Amino acid sequence: MAKKVRLCRAVESNVGERRAYKKQLVRLHKQFSDFILNQLFLEMQADSNLVFDASPLRPNQREKEILKAIKNKIPKGVKDFTTYLWGIISANINKWLRLLKTASMPVIEKFVKKAVTSTTRAQKQAFISAGVKVSAIEQAWSVPIVGRQYIAPQMANAMPDLIEGNVSLITKIGQKDITRIADVLIKGVESGLDYDAIRDELKQTEGFDSARADRVALDQINKINAQTQELNAKALGCTKGRWKHVPGQYTSRKTHIKFDGMEYDLNKGLFDSDVQKFVKPAELPYCRCVMRLVLPQDILNE
Ligand SMILES: [Zn+2]
Repeated sequence: MAKKVRLCRAVESNVGERRAYKKQLVRLHKQFSDFILNQLFLEMQADSNLVFDASPLRPNQREKEILKAIKNKIPKGVKDFTTYLWGIISANINKWLRLLKTASMPVIEKFVKKAVTSTTRAQKQAFISAGVKVSAIEQAWSVPIVGRQYIAPQMANAMPDLIEGNVSLITKIGQKDITRIADVLIKGVESGLDYDAIRDELKQTEGFDSARADRVALDQINKINAQTQELNAKALGCTKGRWKHVPGQYTSRKTHIKFDGMEYDLNKGLFDSDVQKFVKPAELPYCRCVMRLVLPQDILNE
């Protein structure tokens, strides 16, 4: 008699870590935006030849005076404020983005390590509940990570790329932060707003708002969760999974509702007609789908 297929329960990403990452993202971009605004004013102050003494100024007074001075004496040969401001940005943007990269690297590294660890820990529990031999897990997962947890060597090898990918995502968002600040400044100067009004506008158009940080954090943690489980499972000899559709907070794809319960090759995924390619759970933006692993007989307890 053919034995029934044994499945491992689906493991979803860790909610606590997702929230913590979201907070870090918001903090990083807030700090970066403040830094950029400050740098722009320092450059403009140098060009304006204004010197401020140490006596305290009223709030925003320094910025107001710098803007006024710059408008009156935009360096000769530069036609307008837009050209002038983008001149400053072009000369400095690589340096600024490098600083952002350096500042975000340890934050990202810590987040990725913690996310991989908590997924692996949850996956181990799920494997054990499904009847997988502990000895098989311990043999297959041989690389230590955080807090005495071990992961598959394949997963350990994938970590540098995972960290790098997240860091470049942050720098891409940093680039948008700079453009947004420049746009607000230019619009403000051209329409004759004073610095208080510009500051208000900047606050209102805060690029990296909480909802957007939430989406990025969700997307990233789900991708890490999926990749960790796949590589850990392959090290144990798993080759197949069953799609489990999870309705998304932002999207729920009709194709993925159909995929629910379908078996797929871990190397391949399922063909999604919406995007005309094979995809795996959590691969597409904001996809929250997960998988249930099909467990091979030889790693199961009798
Ligand atoms: Zn999905």
